[in-house]
Amino acid sequence: MRPPSGALWSLTLVCLACETGPAIYEHTGFAMGTVAQLKVVAYDASPAEEALVRAMAELARIERITTVYSDSSDVARLARDAGGDPRALPEDLDWILESALRVAERSGGAFDPTAGPLVRAWGFPEEPALPDSVDLAAALELVSWEGCSKTEEGWQLTVAGMELDLGGIAKGYAVDRAADALAAVTGNCLVNVGGDLAVRGSRPGRSGWHIGIQDPREPSRLFLKIQVSGNRAVATSGDYQRAFDVDGIRYHHILDPRRGWPAGELRSVTVVAPTCELADAWATAAFVLGPEEGLEALEAHPDLEGVLVEEDEKGDLVLHRTSGMVALEVGG
Ligand code: AMP
Ligand code: MG
Repeated sequence: MRPPSGALWSLTLVCLACETGPAIYEHTGFAMGTVAQLKVVAYDASPAEEALVRAMAELARIERITTVYSDSSDVARLARDAGGDPRALPEDLDWILESALRVAERSGGAFDPTAGPLVRAWGFPEEPALPDSVDLAAALELVSWEGCSKTEEGWQLTVAGMELDLGGIAKGYAVDRAADALAAVTGNCLVNVGGDLAVRGSRPGRSGWHIGIQDPREPSRLFLKIQVSGNRAVATSGDYQRAFDVDGIRYHHILDPRRGWPAGELRSVTVVAPTCELADAWATAAFVLGPEEGLEALEAHPDLEGVLVEEDEKGDLVLHRTSGMVALEVGG
């Protein structure tokens, strides 16, 4: 398979024990509105390059299906049909929706894939601004994960005007599919799309992959390092990712679907899970739930670990970790 024509394509080889052992082949590109960094462990350049091309294509494919920014995406079509007949959806979208609704139910609606009208009322991502209170109330009326249902004929949004927004889960799912493509080579790889990542196996010579977690006050700085191996994924939701200020108050893109306003108590949440789809959705859900309920929700799921980060009045970070999180941390 050839790299997509016209695309900037570069392959970096990180040699570890080149004559005898495997090497890490890397590619950095652009996907899902952000930087995608892919690493695959291979014995030869050719299978590595093919897998990297396939993984980038997977990211693009999932973006096409899930985006709300294209009138021709399945998500946009489902919104146009809202209040009307059910529509059959591609297998990937079917899976994402089932998963999103499970997290919605288990988080008591803190995660809500029908947040579309609310996200739109706040103008994210293009022109974020404080919404008019009448518009906000009207948008909130249309947000209800229970109004997104599957029938024998397909999926349906039950009320006209309802819209999905899969921004809290689709990137994670895409990362998982890209990792599948890379894992076909030797079973060892890492996919990082804008800080949401999945690993398989380990880095050659190590027992896992080291992952840095961003300091929410200064995202260019890493303040925690963890080691993950096997099939594991890590995703972070933070108030610094998309935000605007009005009169010294910060408004960000993670909205509480029960109130209609940005969720207030945390600066960031990082979740470690078996898949990036779960890590992504639960990071958003726990962020909305806040430090106590969010931690409880993560602890209730044995395969989820995480850290919820609060900032106290003095500007110091207060970390709330699940019981298994410390075991994943490694020194600076
Ligand atoms: P993340 O960065 O994964 O936390 O996802 C945030 C994105 O998900 C936002 O930009 C919105 O598109 C969407 N979103 C915002 N609030 C919610 C919510 N409570 N539940 C589900 N999706 C949300
Ligand atoms: Mg998320």
